[in-house]
Amino acid sequence: MKITILGTGTSQGVPVIGCNCDTCTSPWKQDKRTRSSIVITKGDFSLLIDTSPDLRAQFLINDITDIDAVLYTHEHNDHVVGFDDLRPITLFLNKNVEVYGEKRVLDDIIRKYQYIFNKSYPGALVAIPTEITEDSNIQVGPFLVKPIRVIHGNLPILGYRIDNFAYITDAKQIAHKEMEKLKNLDVLILNALKHSSHSTHLSLEEANAIVEELKPKQTYYTHIGHQMGRHFTINATLPSNIQLAVDNQTIELA
Ligand SMILES: [Zn+2]
Ligand SMILES: [Zn+2]
Ligand SMILES: [Zn+2]
Repeated sequence: MKITILGTGTSQGVPVIGCNCDTCTSPWKQDKRTRSSIVITKGDFSLLIDTSPDLRAQFLINDITDIDAVLYTHEHNDHVVGFDDLRPITLFLNKNVEVYGEKRVLDDIIRKYQYIFNKSYPGALVAIPTEITEDSNIQVGPFLVKPIRVIHGNLPILGYRIDNFAYITDAKQIAHKEMEKLKNLDVLILNALKHSSHSTHLSLEEANAIVEELKPKQTYYTHIGHQMGRHFTINATLPSNIQLAVDNQTIELA
């Protein structure tokens, strides 16, 4: 199983348009963060988590030309609006894409992109929606996917565990019962926005506390804001088993 981290930025990305801060003016490519998403591949099956506004550029730079299914974490713009960019894949390969999410999330996506779910629109991507809940363990291609309920401000959203890997973005709180589902991980990708507290996202210190409790073998932080500081500066302050992720990073798991 191979994980490609397509984007590691918070909703506005890094650099932020018009910002002259130290991070946004960094010359390093590691400080360019597109909006958060990952793709997981096993054999010839590719599973995307979220469709970021930067999806097209992310697919081109990583040479991704096929997607079989999409898992949605939630309906916020920075996790959804690249959906239409899946159309070339479905047209070239003449295939449908499976789309998984909670009812509230799918209702929102279907309202925004009616044509994508309707076979009668010529040239349209056809997506096949499947509603899931936090208790659904679902088989998606070769992956057994276990949803994890996390709280994003007032909004209940989903993270996902697949084997000994988990992807949690946009969390502020994770209940004890859900933390139990995240034990014994080889790799955890978790959101960490910045140093100071935020109403809907984990700060670096809050994320560190979750990692301290879960003790995954390796943790990578994502959904990072420009206020976090430069990539190399912050990573030098963290232990080697807890690091900020970078765009286009790949992880191989047995
Ligand atoms: Zn987000
Ligand atoms: Zn900035
Ligand atoms: Zn969000």
